[in-house]
Amino acid sequence: MKHILVIGAGIVGLASAYELRQRGFEVTVIEAQGKAGQETSKANGAQLSYSFVSPLASPVVLRTLHKLLLDRQGALRIRPRADGQQINWLLHFLAACSVSQNRQASEDLLHLGSLSKSVLTELLQQHPIAFSHNRNGKLMVFESDASLTGARDQARFLRSHGVSQEELSADEACRLEPSLLPIKDRIEGAFFTPSEEAGDCEALCTGLSQLLASQGVVFRYNTPVERLAITPGGLVQAYAHDSPLDADAIVLANGTGAQSLAKDAGINLHIYPLRGYSLTYSVDNNSGAPQASVSDIRNKVVYARIGDKLRVAGMIDIGINDPQAIEQRTQTLKSQVKDFFPALKALEPPVAWSGQRPARPDSKPLIGATAMHNLFINAGHGALGFTLAFGSARLLAESVDGDSSPNLHLAARFSL
Ligand SMILES: Cc1cc2nc3c(=O)[nH]c(=O)nc-3n(C[C@H](O)[C@H](O)[C@H](O)COP(=O)(O)OP(=O)(O)OC[C@H]3O[C@@H](n4cnc5c(N)ncnc54)[C@H](O)[C@@H]3O)c2cc1C
Repeated sequence: MKHILVIGAGIVGLASAYELRQRGFEVTVIEAQGKAGQETSKANGAQLSYSFVSPLASPVVLRTLHKLLLDRQGALRIRPRADGQQINWLLHFLAACSVSQNRQASEDLLHLGSLSKSVLTELLQQHPIAFSHNRNGKLMVFESDASLTGARDQARFLRSHGVSQEELSADEACRLEPSLLPIKDRIEGAFFTPSEEAGDCEALCTGLSQLLASQGVVFRYNTPVERLAITPGGLVQAYAHDSPLDADAIVLANGTGAQSLAKDAGINLHIYPLRGYSLTYSVDNNSGAPQASVSDIRNKVVYARIGDKLRVAGMIDIGINDPQAIEQRTQTLKSQVKDFFPALKALEPPVAWSGQRPARPDSKPLIGATAMHNLFINAGHGALGFTLAFGSARLLAESVDGDSSPNLHLAARFSL
């Protein structure tokens, strides 16, 4: 049996380990942290947003770039740095903003989203892991006519790909989601997509790591992989605690950390960390919290109900890492919550979190084989790693298995 070393126990690494184990591989997961799901997969927006996978790079971003550079409280903030990696990433990002690239990436991601939904559904039918999973749909709320018009175009695009959405008036939106009643007068319109889901990504990581351990997958926590090296025979070897790790093949599934390890093997994955923020409120049925996932389109903030918690997430910061700026952005997110759900009565002050999306310029992850015979990649899922993890894992496992499966065509669109 082939032994595969999966580096990273975030949602992407765990899903990869699951798919590999199902195919009979011997799998070891190696993780820098003390348990699974402690980096970007910890407190993300909780959206399994299979139909809303539009890449960040778009003609609209390109047109408004000058404003983005100046707006200190906008949803997307860029602090340019004299850093080769950032400059290189931004240049590739600008190139990916073309209409054609944006359209192609949207279609590729939609297909990957659809595969992910069916793979996760299959997994949960066999192993009902508890992660506050809900299928309450997604309600996008618009406060301006211009943004609503843009949403109608998006709805036409999605309809042509088999995604059904319902346009709602302010009254209808509030009937569906009464927590919006306090801001009803501001609502221009809404779109409801019943097929969207939500869940607690960290809880899924915990459940999945336990399931995998029971299936014989070995976990080595507190073990950062320090580097990759190339043997005289041209194979890649991973090192931790200065010792080589035993494996027939290596999968880089370590999120933002994949960039530097891949560099050791001479590969530039173009993954750059994009910071985002979340707040987690404890709520009950009297808190006035939404049941469906709700998106505040004006501020680009998403809300998801995960059991007795309300997860709020938003903002994309490029090149912003100092604690003061992070605190300021968290305060902005808190005021956006107060503005959008003025009647929300949380049981405790929210828990604030900030994480780094492992983002590629075109928002498409890299999945599959590399030029190095025993090195595989499953990384760069950016703002959509929870949503895309299970389809990506299926493609990755098919690639490791050398399988010419029905997904070959899709896999080709995510390969190096
Ligand atoms: C604010 C915010 C909101 C988001 N909302 C959503 C959402 O609603 N829906 C969605 O689909 N996605 C969302 N995302 C994106 C999603 O969280 C990520 O795409 C996803 O978590 C990436 O998973 P990963 O497994 O690739 O990376 P990670 O979860 O970061 O896992 C990588 C793991 O590798 C380990 N590691 C790194 N380097 C090494 C090394 N050298 N040796 C050993 N271990 C190593 C890390 O410790 C970590 O555990 C959001 C992200 C943010 C920041």
